[in-house]
Amino acid sequence: MSSSAQRQQRISSLRKRISGPQDTYERCRVYPCTNSTTADRGEGLNRLYCRKHIEFYRRHGSYVKRSYSASELRPFRLEALAALKTACGAQDVMLAVASVRKLYRAAGAPIEAFRLPGKSPRERAQATWAQLRQREVDPLEVVAAWVAVQRQLSEDPQPDRHEEYRHVQVAKLIHRMAGGAHKRWEHQRADGGTVVTTLHKHPISRGRVLRVLGSQAAKACESVTLTVRCGG
Ligand SMILES: [Zn+2]
Repeated sequence: MSSSAQRQQRISSLRKRISGPQDTYERCRVYPCTNSTTADRGEGLNRLYCRKHIEFYRRHGSYVKRSYSASELRPFRLEALAALKTACGAQDVMLAVASVRKLYRAAGAPIEAFRLPGKSPRERAQATWAQLRQREVDPLEVVAAWVAVQRQLSEDPQPDRHEEYRHVQVAKLIHRMAGGAHKRWEHQRADGGTVVTTLHKHPISRGRVLRVLGSQAAKACESVTLTVRCGG
């Protein structure tokens, strides 16, 4: 079969799968959501969840549990940072800091937020590390973000214990530390006055990039959880 015939066949089989929902679940699995699954609506291939909950999952790393807010995590971050500073000579902390530095170094040149659309999740994650390096964010802050999420989860009476949720929560904090791109222009008006135009762009905090970023951070920082459990 020629490659174009193969392609045609693939497209027609994909069309059938999208438009023929005979073996799909009709309702979203999230209780008590009554929306149809995207497959049932003929809008996609997801047989378990509706569009709203798919989007929720992309943002939060869970179909049902919302992300912790920055203000919820803040006391844990400060506590973790203080504990890590006093323990910064400990081998596990030094190891984590070195691993974060390695991520900074390996990240290549920073990419402006304006140029991120179209890049792969991996490239976007690299761009975040590069941005942290450029802003001279102390690697200990990254380690503290990781520890803060572990502490928050351990104090939460209804935590989502999935690794993915954990990773996404850490990634959101790291993403926030990296900040966005800010541009500012000044124009001279005819009457001599000045007009200032500013433009702010923050990369959107959702999707695969958060999983990549979170698992890289986890790998770098995993060894320090014990230290802070003792310290806290
Ligand atoms: Zn739903």
